[in-house]
Amino acid sequence: MSVLTTLETPVCPVEWTPLSDLKARDTSPVEWIEAKKQGKTHPREEILQLVKAVLEGRMSDYQLSAWLMAVCLKGLTFEETTALTEAFVRSGHVLEWTSLNAPTVDKHSTGGVGDKTTLIVLALLGVVGIKAPKLSGRGLGYTGGTIDKIEAIPGFQSALSDEQFQAQLRTVGIALSSQTPNLAPADGVFYALRDVTATVDNLSLIAASVVSKKIASGADAIVLDIKVGAGAFMKTLEEATALAELCQQVGQQFGRRIETILTNMDAPLGMAVGHSLEIEEVIHTLKGQGEAGLTHVSLLLAAAGMVAVDKASTLQEAYQQLQATLHNGEALKQLGLLIEAQGGEVAVLETPQQVLPQASRMMLIPAPTSGRITRIDALAIAKATKTLGGGRTLKTDALDLSVGVVLKHQLGDVVNEGATLAVIHGNKRHLEEAKQWVLQAFELSPEAEAFTPPPLVLYSSLGSVLPHRE
Ligand code: URA
Repeated sequence: MSVLTTLETPVCPVEWTPLSDLKARDTSPVEWIEAKKQGKTHPREEILQLVKAVLEGRMSDYQLSAWLMAVCLKGLTFEETTALTEAFVRSGHVLEWTSLNAPTVDKHSTGGVGDKTTLIVLALLGVVGIKAPKLSGRGLGYTGGTIDKIEAIPGFQSALSDEQFQAQLRTVGIALSSQTPNLAPADGVFYALRDVTATVDNLSLIAASVVSKKIASGADAIVLDIKVGAGAFMKTLEEATALAELCQQVGQQFGRRIETILTNMDAPLGMAVGHSLEIEEVIHTLKGQGEAGLTHVSLLLAAAGMVAVDKASTLQEAYQQLQATLHNGEALKQLGLLIEAQGGEVAVLETPQQVLPQASRMMLIPAPTSGRITRIDALAIAKATKTLGGGRTLKTDALDLSVGVVLKHQLGDVVNEGATLAVIHGNKRHLEEAKQWVLQAFELSPEAEAFTPPPLVLYSSLGSVLPHRE
């Protein structure tokens, strides 16, 4: 099924020499644009020169925009994609964790609604002795960011210095910090332009963007959770599968193991959407009391991390080992160690509602008719949360960490008219508008109609394990 060719010899530069050390060639950006417009292939050196020219201001934004559009229309070969990834990595620092003398795993999600797996996976990896240096971002638009979520815990320091980050990985084993601007900075420049020129959705550009940041973060193995569906970047399974394969194969070129898991993002993951509400759900999940789908995806991602660094020989074995830690208190304790090390209030584990910011109003959303729930639109729930103040339009917007939506039912449930479908947690702002979004998110069909909820896990590069609702 692969559409890719794998290079015989991995590129894997022995040293990541900075792109700034590369001798600039006298080539005109117009020639690069013309070449790609005609569907020609750039040699590796030319891609490196192009990225260098962008960083040094010798290729303007409008020229880069034209090149990006030509890429969307004509594509990049696998070799070009690998070269672009290399150029992004070499535009900044590459972190290195060999001094920890332990396997390192980085988990990354392409972004979804209600996706709070990062914190759960970090805790699970910590329990089994895998070092997890996690650099995360903030939310923009409809997808939430882990850094915003964890900041709902009073006192939590999310901007660690390099020294603090290293020290905590040695003592606690897991650390969470905001993304530094020095990792793959060229990707930031390219991404900002892609965002405003309708050139985001090209698989090669996405793979180079995601994989370069992961390589620069330095972990031995990377577990990628690629979301598929209405609330995700990738709308179809075909696109997502191709992206997964491409990321894996590009990773291989640099000696990094990338495992991929494709998960459904038509409906929100778990029950809560919104910062404080999601932290509370993380805590429930780490106590072994979480919603089945969220628990399953989190265990699977952490199990993939264990297999990827040979801490377990099968996904099944890893999954079962990790599952036990949700019930014996070890996973929750690990989250507590992370929170404590980063200055957060550890009491959140016992009394989350007393510690986390709480909204002043709760609005119950009743089912307009009786029936079976056949759709919970992730995007509509995300829009409700954003309307309440829980999302940003601009990077500089302030967030209300207390607001959000808690689902009371899952896909396939049968409800009577008037039963509570969801609860909106809001303050004064836009409660009615949020209500309309939540009502719009739910589709109720006659109970007698056949309906099977779609599988939550669509593909795993390591094979499947214990399907929870398939
Ligand atoms: N996430 C990224 O980091 N880059 C992309 O291009 C798309 C999603």
